[in-house]
Amino acid sequence: MATVSRPALRPRVEAFLNKERHGGWINGREVMGGGNATVTSIDPGTGLELARVADLTAEDVAAAVDAAAATFRSNAWSTLPINERCAKLHRLADVVEANQSDLAQIESMDAGKILSQAEGDVANFVDSIRYYADLAQHVQPRTVLAVKGHDAWTVRHPWGPCGFIIPWNFPFLLLGWGLGPALAAGNTVVVKPAEDTPLSTLYVARLAQEAGIPDGVINVVPGRGETTGAALSNNPKLKRMSFTGSPEVGRLVAESCGRNLVPVKCELGGKGAAVIFDDVDLDVTAQKLVEAITFHTGQVCCDATRWLVHEKIYDRFVDECVDRLRSVRIGHQCEADSEMGPVVSAKQRERVLGYLEKGVAGGAKLLLEGGAAQVEGCDGGFFVKPALLAGSLDNVAAREEIFGPVAYLGRFSSESEAVAMANDTDYGLANSVWTSDLARAQRVAEAFDCGNGWINAHNVIAHGIPYAGIKKSGMGGGVLSPETLFDYWRSISVARPLN
Ligand code: NAD
Repeated sequence: MATVSRPALRPRVEAFLNKERHGGWINGREVMGGGNATVTSIDPGTGLELARVADLTAEDVAAAVDAAAATFRSNAWSTLPINERCAKLHRLADVVEANQSDLAQIESMDAGKILSQAEGDVANFVDSIRYYADLAQHVQPRTVLAVKGHDAWTVRHPWGPCGFIIPWNFPFLLLGWGLGPALAAGNTVVVKPAEDTPLSTLYVARLAQEAGIPDGVINVVPGRGETTGAALSNNPKLKRMSFTGSPEVGRLVAESCGRNLVPVKCELGGKGAAVIFDDVDLDVTAQKLVEAITFHTGQVCCDATRWLVHEKIYDRFVDECVDRLRSVRIGHQCEADSEMGPVVSAKQRERVLGYLEKGVAGGAKLLLEGGAAQVEGCDGGFFVKPALLAGSLDNVAAREEIFGPVAYLGRFSSESEAVAMANDTDYGLANSVWTSDLARAQRVAEAFDCGNGWINAHNVIAHGIPYAGIKKSGMGGGVLSPETLFDYWRSISVARPLN
């Protein structure tokens, strides 16, 4: 029989998880929905059931959008003076901060995230809400236009009910990236969390009520992508949609929104490159890239999954990385000494292992074999070991997004060759360049055919720096920066001829 252990739960987390069934959240109330179906949330570290969550129907989703639309039309939120609205958002940030440990444990258990990383995600949510609440108060709603013969200006208004569809890898952090600008601008929202990880979103919906956010401003519709998610992206009453997830589903969501002429922003997958020149500090660079590829078990859209290394240091670099990756401590995500937790689901583990097989079958060499990992006390958990592959960059494992702790290595001999290799991908999210020559770093970073070019670091995320994907990695961009706040306002031009 499998041995399993469950970490000690914080009292409020235990009470939350002990509920027989979790509903959605519509107009400030828990809603079990029209159907009886549920989706089971699993602790990826043990494979044990965590919670059962209502699988909301298309009718439930329509009710949530109607609630968000009615709240938008009321005077409860969209027409509040900006300082009052933003004061409420600051209260939300304060309440989330006060509940950080509970939320982090819920997120860690649900998503398989190392506890300290889940704590970081909750802190990032708080920062997102505060950043946009402060920013929105410094934007003048009117812009006077100096146009000959006219008295003219533009004025910004929130759009109305906005939809959000969120993936399972950063459920709470990405929720903050969306709620911050949308709510600060005065919109109301309907959020569809991923079926694997709905719990932190449901938990914070209640906290928002406690914080004084009016009912109907934040609505949550858990359920399956093909039904609940599709019902949301097809709803013609939405005024904007934001989708984060895979390119395959992003296309479907963009098609639905296109049919209804609803503006849509898509943040999609990636196959980022790290370009490593021969003048780097080998120790430091290997350590940082090992940390990046094992961070959240490699389930990070902007990760560096293609390591392009100058031929002069290639062999030494590989040795450094193999040694470090072999010693990464794999364990349950809530154990204090775990450095890498499980992947999110059995399906995701199959995906990772499948790519290793396909890569090798296609001629890639295994520099570090990877494979399924066993963790004592967690027999049912979805653990994988880090892996390194090398060979032709046309290999399927070098071209497609694996979403696990797997990097593919290639070697180059000149700067132009390195840039061409980095850019030879359908994706365009984030690449990094590693060198002690800052002029070269700047040149290479600017030449990347992607939304983010990082220097001597990877996964550089900060409020104020626009984060974006191009090509198969997305459309819309500007995330985490003032640009996104402006996306959540529509603008009307007012003009009066003077003669
Ligand atoms: P996914 O596309 O399978 O699912 C994302 C969301 O879409 C989930 O909530 C899912 O329920 C919903 N969905 C599924 N089918 C749907 C449909 N037909 N209509 C409407 N909604 C539907 O992605 P995932 O596996 O949850 O997440 C991993 C992907 O997300 C990776 O490709 C990753 O790179 C990407 N991602 C991108 C970013 C970014 O900022 N660019 C951030 C995080 C994750």
